[in-house]
Amino acid sequence: MRRLRKVKIVATLGPASSDYETIRGLFEAGADVFRLNMSHGTHDEQRARYEIIRKVEEDLGRPIAVLADLQGPKLRVGTFAAGAADLEEGDAFRLDLEDKDGDQHRVCLPHPEIFAALEAGTTLLVNDGKIRLKVEECGADFANCTVTVGGTISNRKGVNVPDVVLPIPALSEKDKKDLEFACSLGADWLALSFVQRADDVLEAKALAQGRALVLSKIEKPAAVKAYDEILEVSDGIMVARGDLGVELPVQNVPPIQKKLVRKARAAAKPVIVATQMLESMIESPMPTRAEVSDVATAIYEGADAVMLSAESAAGRYPIEAVKTMNNVAEQVEGDSTYREVINSSRTFTAARRQTVADGIVAAAREIAETTDIAAISCYTQTGTSVRLVARERPQVPIVALSPVTKTLRKICLTWGVQAIKSEEVGRFKMAVVNAVRATRDFGLADEKDQIVVVAGVPFNVEGTTNILRVAPCDERQIFRTEPE
Ligand code: PGA
Ligand code: MN
Repeated sequence: MRRLRKVKIVATLGPASSDYETIRGLFEAGADVFRLNMSHGTHDEQRARYEIIRKVEEDLGRPIAVLADLQGPKLRVGTFAAGAADLEEGDAFRLDLEDKDGDQHRVCLPHPEIFAALEAGTTLLVNDGKIRLKVEECGADFANCTVTVGGTISNRKGVNVPDVVLPIPALSEKDKKDLEFACSLGADWLALSFVQRADDVLEAKALAQGRALVLSKIEKPAAVKAYDEILEVSDGIMVARGDLGVELPVQNVPPIQKKLVRKARAAAKPVIVATQMLESMIESPMPTRAEVSDVATAIYEGADAVMLSAESAAGRYPIEAVKTMNNVAEQVEGDSTYREVINSSRTFTAARRQTVADGIVAAAREIAETTDIAAISCYTQTGTSVRLVARERPQVPIVALSPVTKTLRKICLTWGVQAIKSEEVGRFKMAVVNAVRATRDFGLADEKDQIVVVAGVPFNVEGTTNILRVAPCDERQIFRTEPE
């Protein structure tokens, strides 16, 4: 179960991928992280998937990360007497708080906070942006709009309000329940939808209390604007192109993706590129050329992970979709241009290069570049030092060694990292011996090789990365030469 690529694959589970065979098949095909989408399905269904993931993990002896994606404050209209209504350009259409079925003249929008934030001229997008409404006049409990792009509006369709920072918390009551459920289940990562400001992330972190890391989905213009502050307090980032492409013109998405990925890389925080990567594979066993190119682009950008949504959750070819991503990744990363692109995009600000750990990981990468080192093996308690190694985007495999199962799972999302359970080590000599054994047993080095070992002494204390050792993989030699 060794991966031959650096970029990670996140696969969303759903009706098409809920049994043991399929989930195991997805993992074997290359999925490193499974996403449970809390917008769909019951807690019992999510728990059943979670338990299967842990069973696969145990059966195959490899750590797997579980990412629970919280729905967030997704606004929805109420219901219609006829189930739907046709709106035409130029029509008047009213949104209000009246709790009764709608028709072609009005519908309930059961979110009082929204009305307070609207003003004349604001655009509302309905049904993934397919319908556009312009607010003409509004009050505390209504908004009279003009339809600027028509279409069919039906029961509980989603509403986006791109231009406004909504005065609503990032976590609805449902989200809070889902968050607690996901944490008690043992999810390693939480994804927070429609983040608008850094405080939203802090609120989720306070509720998670360290039980899971928190990843911010960037899908609102406000989040793009406040990205630096959001990144600062987040543990990871998702470029959520689905809603981002609704809230902003679609052509804005690629340049935003590039910026978000770059900054997350510089901050050593994992970044996922998500949505419609292989959309046509929901129905077809073959991707389009454009989709393959899109996956390749994210890989060239140095994203930590690429993601499948409906392709693996509800499509006809979930395993083929993972295989496709895996094949694209192996092909791209095997090409010499990839190395050039990755090396030239390694940009860090001086402010981020000031600790001993920063110096050590940069040295590890340089040694790997100039000699024929087989791997960089890194002892890590919380995952911090291995994230720093990964930030360097070295050419050789990164082996994360930790006695902490949770750390091994979390780090599955990070670029280039192969996580391996290790015993607690007390003495440096044994740490080197263990690192060599683990790297060799995993098939990443043999007797004749050398590896770089990165560690912190004293052991098992967070944030102490202070040792870099070039070790021979021949154990007899270690025992002869290594200081105690
Ligand atoms: P979603 O988020 O699939 O939960 O909407 C991803 C996106 O918007 O791209
Ligand atoms: Mn979204």
